[in-house]
Amino acid sequence: MKALLALPLLLWLLPPSAPRPALVDGDAAALLEKAESRAESGKYREAQRLYKKLAEDFAGTPEGRIGERRSKPSAFLGAADIVRHGDSSNRVDIVLMGEGYQLKEMKAFAKLADDLPDYFRRNRTLGEYYSYFNFIRADLVSADNGVDGFGREYDTALGGHILGTYAGHVGVNGGEVRRMLDELPAHDGQAIVFAKLGVLGSGGGGIATIGGRNMKTTLHEFGHSFGRLSDEYSSETHKRGPTKANVNVTDNPDPDRAPWKHFIDAKVPGVDMYQGADGRARGAWRPTANGCIMGAGEFYCPVCREQLVKLIYSMVDPIDRVAPAPHRSRSDEEHVVEGKELVLEVTAMQPASHMLQVEWWVFPEADAPRSTVSDSSFAAPAKRGRRSTRNPVELPPIEAKPDQRSKGKRDGEHEFRFKRSAFEPGRYRVVCRVTDPAKLRGDRHPWVLKDDRGLLQSEVGWWVRVPAE
Ligand SMILES: [Zn+2]
Repeated sequence: MKALLALPLLLWLLPPSAPRPALVDGDAAALLEKAESRAESGKYREAQRLYKKLAEDFAGTPEGRIGERRSKPSAFLGAADIVRHGDSSNRVDIVLMGEGYQLKEMKAFAKLADDLPDYFRRNRTLGEYYSYFNFIRADLVSADNGVDGFGREYDTALGGHILGTYAGHVGVNGGEVRRMLDELPAHDGQAIVFAKLGVLGSGGGGIATIGGRNMKTTLHEFGHSFGRLSDEYSSETHKRGPTKANVNVTDNPDPDRAPWKHFIDAKVPGVDMYQGADGRARGAWRPTANGCIMGAGEFYCPVCREQLVKLIYSMVDPIDRVAPAPHRSRSDEEHVVEGKELVLEVTAMQPASHMLQVEWWVFPEADAPRSTVSDSSFAAPAKRGRRSTRNPVELPPIEAKPDQRSKGKRDGEHEFRFKRSAFEPGRYRVVCRVTDPAKLRGDRHPWVLKDDRGLLQSEVGWWVRVPAE
């Protein structure tokens, strides 16, 4: 009797043709998180299965759409940090991707990706700024290995194809790379792609593509993709249009018109006008005889090096952390010196072998410098947004002698002790400026000779109130 009564009730509760009972959003998010953590720990097949389940169980939801995308035969499966030096908001995130790696080969790609940061670290230019980079592995599965070309098409993650060069350099589909980058919580539009079966490489627009795994090729293509540099070799690889003047290549032999004139004027050894660049023997000039990896050399030449350092600083603020919270120049907020002193802390970025300069000033409110820098630059670094979009300008010089030049402790930490006994009651502006001199021990010249946009410097300020006794 009981069973007879219960049966219609069950049928009403779970009619076979009705949609599945709605699950709460948390279940989809938990399943997505589980799939991502499987990929992160190298369990790619398991991750694929979970994405498929996500697509089926949560069709039509945002998570379901992610599952659908990631369970395709060629897809993004997840990501893992290889080297993380800091929060993505103040580092250059380099995302490493494999193209044409099938599921069973993805472990081999992970191994290749693991080796890459060390090549950056051992390069003199990139190694000095190694701690300014994060390296993140994106795990992409491809259904096929091949590179499109000669009438053959393969199903791969990034649409790898043979370019129209004499040697058939490998390239990838930029739109696909950017779609994969957008799967990550944060990125800087910078990817290094290793195509399993391609040859040589190509680079530009934030994407370096390398056929196989040659690390010298990787640094050359990175010079194109990140550094926006031109080729400094003279051999013809393909038909190119007229030479466009760039940071490291020019179509004009006049040293007074050279983009690297400031290096010639400063008499930086080895920098002059050398004919043969941009894939042609005549009509294009490069800055050094054979000293650049954008040509036949092993390292970035001084001209390319300056460009790379400036571009790193277009994404990384020399000031990494500030405590307590800084104030805008026109703010009514302030910190009150409660006890004997107020300690202000700044953490500067730390290149491998040289230190950033950290200078502090204290001004009574009436004498506080009115900065020409946009007010947002006084905010904490994480809230500042990209430096390149803040339109940085050179900071106006402060005539007054700094009240303190701090040497800094380990990890770039600097502090200024605002002692109550040293000041009359009132309101004060404390300004801290951090500058990278970009000059290494033993070098005659700084690495950056011209910094019109003030990229190598940064500033924060606080309002401090000394209360009446
Ligand atoms: Zn160069």
